[in-house]
Amino acid sequence: MKLFDAHVHLQDSRILNRASEVIRRAREAGILWMMCCATREEDWDGVIELSRMHAGVLPSLGVHPWHVHQCKTGWQERLEAGIGAHACGVGEIGLDYALDPQTRELQNTALVVQLRIARRYRRPVSIHCRKAWGPLTAILRQEGGLPDGGLVHAFGGPPDLVKVLEQLGAFLSFGAALTRPGNKRAKSAAAIVSPQRLLIETDSPDMIPYGVEADFNEPAHLGRVLETLAAIRGADVPKTAELTFANSLRLFGNLIKGRTLNP
Ligand SMILES: [Zn+2]
Repeated sequence: MKLFDAHVHLQDSRILNRASEVIRRAREAGILWMMCCATREEDWDGVIELSRMHAGVLPSLGVHPWHVHQCKTGWQERLEAGIGAHACGVGEIGLDYALDPQTRELQNTALVVQLRIARRYRRPVSIHCRKAWGPLTAILRQEGGLPDGGLVHAFGGPPDLVKVLEQLGAFLSFGAALTRPGNKRAKSAAAIVSPQRLLIETDSPDMIPYGVEADFNEPAHLGRVLETLAAIRGADVPKTAELTFANSLRLFGNLIKGRTLNP
């Protein structure tokens, strides 16, 4: 089985100093590719460096809504230069309205800026959204959707938004939240996503799957998400692996060109 972990943060301090062994365990578990998303300017270099050292690690550069209030003047220009210089996606970007309401305007502006950079350079985006589904769909609609594709990571929104986001060009990615027995909303959304729009992720080092004992999450645990998703959809595990792998390649394939994985 070949797997693609659609959303990780290997540059996180919990993983970075043991990234080689984490990536080796991922390979042993069948994970060939991982989309590694930056969250703030300070980790852009770390993400690019990881993607240089490990062929299976694909980079995305961006500013996460949690960090937009700390951005230093000129970040937009520096982000655009980074995107222009590397075969990378744009992420992690998005909206988190669970944060202080005073940051919302800044979050909205940063999202629009980053969506426009993605469109200009024809890159896929990785989106975080919490308690801001109305504003997210409004901004995506206003910006003409996601012409070069994008994913909404750890989807936990209302199931009736699935079709709306798909129509805007989004893939929907599911993580370990699905493995929690009480999570009815994510399970009912996961059941109705179009087969061609479905992705899986670990969000490592966060979101340890239910029942796994570990200090931090890592891509090698992706199988737990896969099995849970297949069970929810009444589908076969290898077929679900194949489907999500093919979907990830459709979304991120342009970033893989020229990279070869050693056997
Ligand atoms: Zn993330």
